[in-house]
Amino acid sequence: MLKCDVLIVGGGIAGLSAAAEVPPELSVILADAGGAASTEIMGFSAPANEPDSPERMFEDTIRSGGGESDPALVRVLCSRALRELKRLERLGIVFDRTAAGSYDMVPALGTSFPRVVHSGTTTGKQVMERLARPVLRERVTELFTADGGAVAGARLESGEIISTRAVVLAGGGFAGLWKRSTWSKKLRGEALTLGMSVGARLRGVGFIQFEPTVTADGFPVITTALREGAELLTERGDRLSPAPRKRELARQIQQEIDRGGEVFYDFSGVDERRFAERYPEYFRRFQPWPPRFSVRPAPHTTLGGLEIDPDGATSVPGLFAAGECTGGIHGRDRLGGNAGLETLVFGRIAGSSAARYAASAPRLAFRESPPREQPGPEVFAEIAAIFDRCVTVCDEPEKLREAKRLLALLPPFPVVKLAEKVCERKEYADY
Ligand SMILES: Cc1cc2nc3c(=O)[nH]c(=O)nc-3n(C[C@H](O)[C@H](O)[C@H](O)COP(=O)(O)OP(=O)(O)OC[C@H]3O[C@@H](n4cnc5c(N)ncnc54)[C@H](O)[C@@H]3O)c2cc1C
Repeated sequence: MLKCDVLIVGGGIAGLSAAAEVPPELSVILADAGGAASTEIMGFSAPANEPDSPERMFEDTIRSGGGESDPALVRVLCSRALRELKRLERLGIVFDRTAAGSYDMVPALGTSFPRVVHSGTTTGKQVMERLARPVLRERVTELFTADGGAVAGARLESGEIISTRAVVLAGGGFAGLWKRSTWSKKLRGEALTLGMSVGARLRGVGFIQFEPTVTADGFPVITTALREGAELLTERGDRLSPAPRKRELARQIQQEIDRGGEVFYDFSGVDERRFAERYPEYFRRFQPWPPRFSVRPAPHTTLGGLEIDPDGATSVPGLFAAGECTGGIHGRDRLGGNAGLETLVFGRIAGSSAARYAASAPRLAFRESPPREQPGPEVFAEIAAIFDRCVTVCDEPEKLREAKRLLALLPPFPVVKLAEKVCERKEYADY
């Protein structure tokens, strides 16, 4: 049996940030199955250029959440943004600046001011390099609780058992449950199902962010190109009207596709030199210039997850969570850049809360049940087929009911239960 004081499940930025907060006198095991979305982060929200402010960011985030965000979590997120930016600068990350010396901000749809700081297009990768630490390359497949309900142990896929005083779940989201999503098929909500298995509450798992403009091979093309002069055109050559938020844009595109049409991202109106300078990696990919390609919406990040309080604690003693596997910050819709910031802010909070808890918690005994059967690839294939057809950005109640009916026919693995919850929207109306 392995022993540690704090077990961290997930080695993206949320997990690495959590690990960085555990003092050296406590032992940590960080288990990670690979495929973190954090490597893909281009930038994160930081209201660093006046007249922007944490208060304006708070207002924008709450508005974008459509009444489903937890204001206490959003307050923490916004009030710590500038601190995180400074910390990363101290770690040696150089953020892009304008000629006038202010931060160069990537504009995201739905914010009062451009607010996404970035270091080229590789901010996430650089953060992960700076926070890197030894990682156990294994999946955690089960959690165990002691009498009284506190989390006390875990099982790895290899069968090895871990005894721990506290656990931080930082396993990312579940967009990998769809066939066509913008990132790793490894992100299938295991942190959520692990939490559910020991009684943790979920919040807002029906809220999914669809990236509006995804290519046939799953590559998400930045919507900020629309602010640089790119256009979205139907097969008939009609221009889709600009939408204030990604969700509305994605719905317009999906509706065109549902009518049997196709939508093209057309870059002929984009200034080649300016684009090459600002987005060199995209520019290299988009040759010959100007590109024109077919796009459709695809799930990108999942907005709900394990319910946490402002200290990163779940409803289960000893169990903390951070990052995309949690719910409550983004509500119904996420502002670009807020997910990256969430991993930094709440990763650190969950890590320090878990460390405080572990420092005073006894090591508890737990009963190991026999290994639970894990869902095979055929179960994931069934879920993906159902989700791709029925759980789209258009939130159609009939399709969601159909999805629930089909899911109920699958074996009752925890991931199937999670999938059913995804289909239980509180309300289907647009907002
Ligand atoms: C293509 C793309 C671009 C993005 N760009 C931006 C951006 O520019 N700005 C922004 O704010 N947000 C962006 N996002 C969203 C952002 O990347 C994610 O929300 C964020 O990185 C999530 O970080 P995380 O640490 O919570 O999880 P992740 O970085 O996804 O890491 C989770 C890790 O947990 C591991 N794991 C899961 N289950 C287990 C298990 N049972 N046992 C062991 N390990 C497990 C996974 O293997 C994975 O390595 C983007 C997302 C994508 C897909």
